[in-house]
Amino acid sequence: MRGRGLRRRVKEDLDRLDRALGRPPRRPRRPPLDELILTILSQNTSDLNRDRAYRALRRRFPSWEGVLRARAADVEETIRVGGLARTKSRAIQEVLRRIRRERGALSLDHLRTMPMEDARAYLRSFRGVGEKTARCVLLFSCGRPVFPVDTHIHRIARRLGWVPAAATPERTHQALAALIPSDRCHAAHVNLITLGRRTCRPRDPSCPSCPLRPGCRFAAGARQARARGDRARSSRPRPKSARRGPGIDRGLY
Ligand code: SF4
Repeated sequence: MRGRGLRRRVKEDLDRLDRALGRPPRRPRRPPLDELILTILSQNTSDLNRDRAYRALRRRFPSWEGVLRARAADVEETIRVGGLARTKSRAIQEVLRRIRRERGALSLDHLRTMPMEDARAYLRSFRGVGEKTARCVLLFSCGRPVFPVDTHIHRIARRLGWVPAAATPERTHQALAALIPSDRCHAAHVNLITLGRRTCRPRDPSCPSCPLRPGCRFAAGARQARARGDRARSSRPRPKSARRGPGIDRGLY
């Protein structure tokens, strides 16, 4: 499915998701620099540990200036609970160093009014800042209409058939940017992640209870495979023992 048909299908799926999960509230906006550092801390860890690491960092170094001036080992130690502490502490200090050098102050507030593509490219130019991180900063902090794709959304989009099964995360980002209406980016992002955590899990998706089941390619494939298996089993000649009526013992057990 392509073009207008696919756009209609995505809209129907998003409507179903909204009906099942509701419109998620927007969390209070942080300044873009705070959001960027929070998003760096979120890589490869749970929201809980990301928040723990962020709180520990802010407690120990109440200003970003303090983080910039701190010893790398101290920053690393402080955010250890969030995992990948060495990589993340380096990325954070590098980001701060460059912003201070280029802008003279530790702020990214100019991203709120910068043309969208320039703002995205600027964020992407930092080492350790990928497409998802850049878009999360623009969506959550600046309220810009962009759609970040995380690992849950990438998996769900392929299972649903919104993108080809072999699509890369980059391809999914491009495709969904054209498919998700700009006024639905926030709700769609938050609700799809909730669906990915609760229902469309990586290993054992709970398709029977999923609100998106009616149009899902993966669920339809699983149904067809089950039906084929049932047909194959029923057409197989049954062994003699199974054809015999229950004997005295069989009847009991
Ligand atoms: S029907 Fe199953 S595979 Fe499809 S989106 Fe829902 S949980 Fe995922």
